[in-house]
Amino acid sequence: MTDTLRPQPRPGVMDIAAYVPGKHGDASKGKVHKLSSNETPLGASPDALDAAAQVLSHAEFYPDGSATELRMAIAEVHGLNAQNILCSNGSDELLGFLAQTYLTAGDEGIFTEHGFLVYRIQILAAGGVPIVVEEKDERADVDAILAAVTERTRIVFLANPNNPTGTYLPFEDVRRLHAGLPKHVLLVLDAAYAEYVRRNDYESGMELVSASQNVVMTRTFSKIHGLAALRIGWMYAPAAIIDAVNRVRGPFNVNALAIAAGAAAIRDRNHVEEAVAYNEAWLPWVTDELTKIGLRVTPSVGNFVLVHFPQNGRSAEAADAYLTERGYILRRVAGYGFPNALRMTIGSEEANRGVVSALTEFMKI
Ligand SMILES: *Cc1c(COP(=O)(O)O)cnc(C)c1O
Repeated sequence: MTDTLRPQPRPGVMDIAAYVPGKHGDASKGKVHKLSSNETPLGASPDALDAAAQVLSHAEFYPDGSATELRMAIAEVHGLNAQNILCSNGSDELLGFLAQTYLTAGDEGIFTEHGFLVYRIQILAAGGVPIVVEEKDERADVDAILAAVTERTRIVFLANPNNPTGTYLPFEDVRRLHAGLPKHVLLVLDAAYAEYVRRNDYESGMELVSASQNVVMTRTFSKIHGLAALRIGWMYAPAAIIDAVNRVRGPFNVNALAIAAGAAAIRDRNHVEEAVAYNEAWLPWVTDELTKIGLRVTPSVGNFVLVHFPQNGRSAEAADAYLTERGYILRRVAGYGFPNALRMTIGSEEANRGVVSALTEFMKI
């Protein structure tokens, strides 16, 4: 009864478990290696930082509300039409815009068992009903997703590659998923880690966007470009979807520092290539070393690995405490359906070697 005496959030909102970001660690206890949010150990392109610094000296001006400079740079680098690109304050914001634009109360939004948790949050925030589909071997299962589609389905979120598993769907499977979806269902391909993937059967989804009316691909500057602090995401989408989302977004949703830094970052192809080469060297090294000490590591194509702990007293929780004590901050992933695993970002050489030697000791306890 007393509930009527104060404003009530709309249905669904109080079902949201607020997103828990990766921990920062306690720097007062010595050096901390933050390996909890898939940030790059290489930092941002110096060109991007210079560009942001220049803009900072004119903080009194509103940014360009359509982020033209940034959209042009993305279009140029990826060979896309700038009119089919829309930028956002991090790609998380875009996921929210898409849910708000395409879901009405009671509509269903699909994502997979170990999929990125922001999908659930955004579906609920839009008044939709989250439908979670089981995975197979820690990978999205196209047949199971198609079987979950009902008359109320309006949106399907697929992270490819997925976080926190690091697994991916070959493009053949993504095409099959798209072919099986009704034309009015929006397929969102979240390609946050696309740049890192080195597989011949992987595509981020641009061609599928170009060839259909119900697919969008989202990308971010937070991972390989090292600009997580500035919050920059973008999507490539059909004109009708760009038009709809442009009506929903805030007029200045991307700030001026982000526009300038993002444009410079995406043009610095050397920096991106260095980051890819770095990951190509350290991802297999970390995977192999952890496997050698008896841990199961899900094969990853991203800049992180999901590490599974045995049950016999050496739990993920105990490992997390052991690593944190030594300055290595990994990510608990119980909320993703992995109560006994930790996700580790591929970090600096010092961090990677440090985690491997600490876990080697941990496994001997
Ligand atoms: C990190 C990540 C994002 C990007 O989030 P931003 O809001 O752009 O920082 C999107 N999707 C997945 C799966 C991610 O892991």
